[in-house]
Amino acid sequence: MSGVPHKQVFAFQEGHAQMLHLLGGKGANLAEMVRLGLPVPPGFTVTTEACRDFYEQGGQTTEELRGQIAAALKRLELEKGQVFGDSCNPLLVSVRSGSVTSMPGMMDTVLNLGLNDATVEGLANHTHNARFAYDCYRRFIQMYGNVVLNIEGFHFERLLHELKQQEGTELDQAITVEGWQRLIASYKACILQKTGRVFPQDVNEQLYLAVEAVFRSWHNPRAQIYRKVHQIPDHQGTAVNIQSMVFGNMGDDSGTGVIFSRNPSNGENVLFGEYLVNAQGEDVVAGVRTPMPIAALENEMPAVYNHLYSVAKQLERHYKDMQDIEFTVENGKLYLLQTRSGKRNAQAAMKIAVDLVSEGSISKEDSLRRIEVSHLDQLLHRGMDESKITQVLATGLPASPGAATGQVVFDADTAVEWNRMGKRVILARQETTPEDIHGMIASEGVLTSRGGMTSHAAVVARGMGTPCICGCEGIQFMEKEKAMQIAGHVLKEGDWVTLDGTTGRVIEGSIPLREAEMTPELTQMLEWADEIRTLQVYTNADNPKDAETARRFGAEGIGLCRTEHMFFAPERLPVVQQMILADNIGERNRALTQLLPMQQADFEGIFRNMDGLPVTIRLLDPPLHEFLPNIEELLRQLSQLNGEDPETPAKKKELQVLIRKVRLLHETNPMLGQRGCRLGIVYPEIYDMQIEAIFLAADTCMAEGIDVRPELMVPLVGHAAELQLIRGRIEEIAKRILGAEKSKVLAYKVGTMIEVPRAALTAKQIVQYADFFSFGTNDLTQMTFGYSRDDAEGKFLTRYLDQKLLPQNPFQVLDTDGVGQLIEMAVAGGRTVKPSLKTGICGEHGGDKASILFCQRTGLNYVSCSPFRVPLARIAAAQAQLEVKAAEERTPAAVL
Ligand code: ADP
Ligand code: MG
Ligand code: MG
Repeated sequence: MSGVPHKQVFAFQEGHAQMLHLLGGKGANLAEMVRLGLPVPPGFTVTTEACRDFYEQGGQTTEELRGQIAAALKRLELEKGQVFGDSCNPLLVSVRSGSVTSMPGMMDTVLNLGLNDATVEGLANHTHNARFAYDCYRRFIQMYGNVVLNIEGFHFERLLHELKQQEGTELDQAITVEGWQRLIASYKACILQKTGRVFPQDVNEQLYLAVEAVFRSWHNPRAQIYRKVHQIPDHQGTAVNIQSMVFGNMGDDSGTGVIFSRNPSNGENVLFGEYLVNAQGEDVVAGVRTPMPIAALENEMPAVYNHLYSVAKQLERHYKDMQDIEFTVENGKLYLLQTRSGKRNAQAAMKIAVDLVSEGSISKEDSLRRIEVSHLDQLLHRGMDESKITQVLATGLPASPGAATGQVVFDADTAVEWNRMGKRVILARQETTPEDIHGMIASEGVLTSRGGMTSHAAVVARGMGTPCICGCEGIQFMEKEKAMQIAGHVLKEGDWVTLDGTTGRVIEGSIPLREAEMTPELTQMLEWADEIRTLQVYTNADNPKDAETARRFGAEGIGLCRTEHMFFAPERLPVVQQMILADNIGERNRALTQLLPMQQADFEGIFRNMDGLPVTIRLLDPPLHEFLPNIEELLRQLSQLNGEDPETPAKKKELQVLIRKVRLLHETNPMLGQRGCRLGIVYPEIYDMQIEAIFLAADTCMAEGIDVRPELMVPLVGHAAELQLIRGRIEEIAKRILGAEKSKVLAYKVGTMIEVPRAALTAKQIVQYADFFSFGTNDLTQMTFGYSRDDAEGKFLTRYLDQKLLPQNPFQVLDTDGVGQLIEMAVAGGRTVKPSLKTGICGEHGGDKASILFCQRTGLNYVSCSPFRVPLARIAAAQAQLEVKAAEERTPAAVL
């Protein structure tokens, strides 16, 4: 360690927005607001570095840090003209967490710190408001008891509830001084009983322990889950902000609230938010009382409203983005307590980004960079079939749009458990707290009976893009019965309910959901993305309908058409089974002759829909036994045959033959067994039929004047000889069906899926027979890791991720270090032989943002993803291009 102590405490006036990593988001933005001359209660920030130090020291603050805090506190006392712990005019502070990446509500904050039995008297005298002073003190003891002393909140809630019953009121504001004093006494008794120690009266002890508790809250379970979901690194740590208090609970000319500079649900350019009169900080977010819409403040306190409005606009201009702002009004004077880029849903994000471009605030490139592509997914999957709505049970606040349907559950753990069993659930609660986060993640939608548009449930659900209805006051929960009552109806746990987060309607039963339309803003954004991106976006489509949808979403071709999906259709499966079970070639060919026109018709449909665009068709891939009946089921049927029935002996024989064949085809390890081109080589007639169907379809479509561009893809090639053989068959059949002339006109391609590591390693040989490489990253990941996906995800992979042995699920996010290296090698190898070799990716990774960036870097020509992810991939491809360009500008290409 160096001898010079690091500066680990910064007064707000010493910081600025760029110091995000050191000061955390909250601290950096408080400092920035001070720089802008906005009314921010003074304070200082303890850096994230101090937090990391704290963990390195085994959970202890250093003397050095305490010294720096004490010095900063001294300066704060001078600035405020108050003294910390003084019994006449005490300085009170909040101790607030604030990490680099905003994690709303995930960590802890303590307000009114510095109160004790003596200073509370001072506060009462100084403000001439004893009721207020004791209100602050009871809030402080509760938060301190909860955050620092780890006493569960419900103990305090229960005591508060008892007090309200004694006082005969529901409302905090109606409690008298004496009431609060009695509550304080019982809070203290509770703390003594739970911790064996009296509530600390030493204000310095209060402060240091609170700082440590905030550091520690970085590792609380809900913060950990949140980081995992949002892929926030664990090592960042949190800063701590110590800020002089302002009081929204001083009376009716005081209050507190949260606003957004635009509507975070639909992006409309109007002030949006809520406030509560005579309330403190957490009251709005906690959903204790249902707050007032911000528009009401314009009548109640016009001067404050106007001031707030102009500040919101100023901050938005300054940060060039929609802001989420916390404010408090103390005796008619406005104070700002936080600003940050506001969380918004996909629809709002799109509108705000497009509006900011047309307002001249940001460039097209900036607007594209800002789109959180993972949210677009939800934008493209919502709405419901209005005609199927039978009964609207109640209407609450439309807190996060989109429709969701599921079985109702009343606690987060059940939501998680049911979700694991494959059920779709709706989490219904009075209000949510950060402890419910895992349940919210597991739910299709969230419903609360209390709290407003900025309550915890609303903010978190919007962030996750989960439909949510808040403050649905018509609901009564019946805890014991595990049920809720709405408008005279009783819904028990497991009953179906549908939420419309866009309008706030709670609907009985399960209503079919409908995919959403493209908004004009999304269309605009996609046009900009298309101008910028160089990576093409194809789609995976197995049938004409998907092809059409994908084309509507802007797909520029089909990167993967899986022919086996056509085999599974119920009317076809029996023929497929006949083909597989055939005793001889003759029988097999009879079945294949029946299948051929069906396949041909599918391909014709797809070619028509993809007129002028490439269609990559993969020849049959899965092992044959996947198409056969289940062996246990056959054995069961056999055991149940009735001895009396005259037909039994014949049936028995039939079943036994079937069982023998299914057993014969059974493989110990089908993933590595007779599948892909191996199957096509052992049963050439199967591939021949498919190839014929493709060229017959092409011929028909060409005659209709359609521009057909088939690309035949051979799966699971691991050796050049395999591809050489099958390519030969393809060329022969093409010539036979089209004749020499037309087979030249039809610019078809033959290529392979690179999904066996050996194929990547021997790309230079394989490419001799390939016009294109398509990386089948699902199998390539399985085979590179040696994991079978189903076994991995069902068993050890979760453990690996929990223990952080792997940073991510490699089936979701491409493993660039391992699998990626094989891809790079194959691209390079292929292009040394054929410089303009077409390359693409068609695994599920094709729709993942990070994987798309990798494809851009590696110089692939296209990514292929499911139809609904096409818009997302178009934007991610533009983002990738912008990022690669920016990186190149930072480091000019090395001179060779
Ligand atoms: P979170 O990150 O959970 O929002 P905050 O640290 O922002 O936690 O604080 C919680 C609440 O307390 C917010 O409503 C905030 O505005 C309020 N608050 C924090 N510090 C002060 C303060 N010094 N004076 C008044 N209210 C405060
Ligand atoms: Mg806050
Ligand atoms: Mg494969």
